Amino acid sequence: MATPRSSPLYHDDPKLFSFRGVVVAHETHAGRPSVRLDRTAFYPESGGQMADRGRLDEAAVVDVQVDDEGRIHHVLEGPLPAIGAEVQGTIDKPRRLVHMAQHTGQHMLSRALADVARAETVSSRLGESACTIDLDVAALDERAAAEAEALVNAVIDDDAPIRAFFPSEDELRALPLRRQPKVHDNVRVVVIGDFDVSPCGGTHCTNTAQVGFVRIDGLERYKGKMRVTFSAGVRARTKLSREADVVRALARDLTCGPEDVPAGIEKLRRELDEARQALGRVRGRVAAAIADALVKDARERGERVVIGVLDDASLDLVRAVAGRITAEGDLVALLAGEAEGGTIVLAARGSSSDFDCGAFLKRAATAAGGRGGGRPERAEGRLPAGIDWKTIAAATLATPGR
Ligand SMILES: [Zn+2]
Repeated sequence: MATPRSSPLYHDDPKLFSFRGVVVAHETHAGRPSVRLDRTAFYPESGGQMADRGRLDEAAVVDVQVDDEGRIHHVLEGPLPAIGAEVQGTIDKPRRLVHMAQHTGQHMLSRALADVARAETVSSRLGESACTIDLDVAALDERAAAEAEALVNAVIDDDAPIRAFFPSEDELRALPLRRQPKVHDNVRVVVIGDFDVSPCGGTHCTNTAQVGFVRIDGLERYKGKMRVTFSAGVRARTKLSREADVVRALARDLTCGPEDVPAGIEKLRRELDEARQALGRVRGRVAAAIADALVKDARERGERVVIGVLDDASLDLVRAVAGRITAEGDLVALLAGEAEGGTIVLAARGSSSDFDCGAFLKRAATAAGGRGGGRPERAEGRLPAGIDWKTIAAATLATPGR
């Protein structure tokens, strides 16, 4: 049973960023030196809200934690102020304001999702980079999420008062709590206008306008339930403004207005498609010219195996040349092309040939220190860069396979 103690200063005034307190103990928390004060406005990590940072006199407060007895430990960097000394506590205000906006935004969004989509909050996390709410529903559509977001921002615009207090047991029973409290004694309640009533020990804004802005950043399925990622306050505005910067930069590149970026990208996509088709036609003509020359040479020498090396050839071009050669029916194409970081090789046979491409390529790849294989009709592989394909292919053909 925890010993009763006076309520921490942040409960009475979440906007108290500066206070004086007396050091009552030197301790360690998780192996780090810490002090306890007779009174504090520093919020310890709890209830899904992150710990405050700041200073005690000149010492940096690098963490604030609460132990099982409810005692608040200020983890300090540098020498600890003496026991009995009165110190000036200064809270990192921007950091706390973000936490207050996120925490208040979470209450409001949980309420809105329950009202709009009958989606009750199971748990929530307010992290350094992302805030999430897990809902007890298997699905939540984008439209319902957008409706909940709009409702929250309307309540923000209403500038509704927010009150946190410790009700009597009778008062508590009469309150329309959104969820049941996690503690039995000294239940603290946060009332947001006439919008939401929840038990909570965290720090919150004192009116809804201070939340500034709440935005749902994403929806995802998580362990059969829905997880909503959101941002609030300055965090949400910063995110939105960074995204707007990206859109503006895109607009400059496309020499259009931000609103015309989708049309600009669509136009680029069309042009890319047309360029690809034109490239395909040219590649077809190049492949035909190379293949015809290789076939002519092989026919003149009375050979049915065409060995060729294509300089600067993509796999697409090698395949196209092989396709043209094997259209002859009785011919076998054994081709190589230099690709990034290696040599691509391909063996393919015409419909009336009984050459085993897979077996050939496997033996050739083994001999050249690469890998490859495939079916009797067709096989592909990758060999080290700079190999002499004509010699390897000829030597492999000359060696009887097993
Ligand atoms: Zn709260």
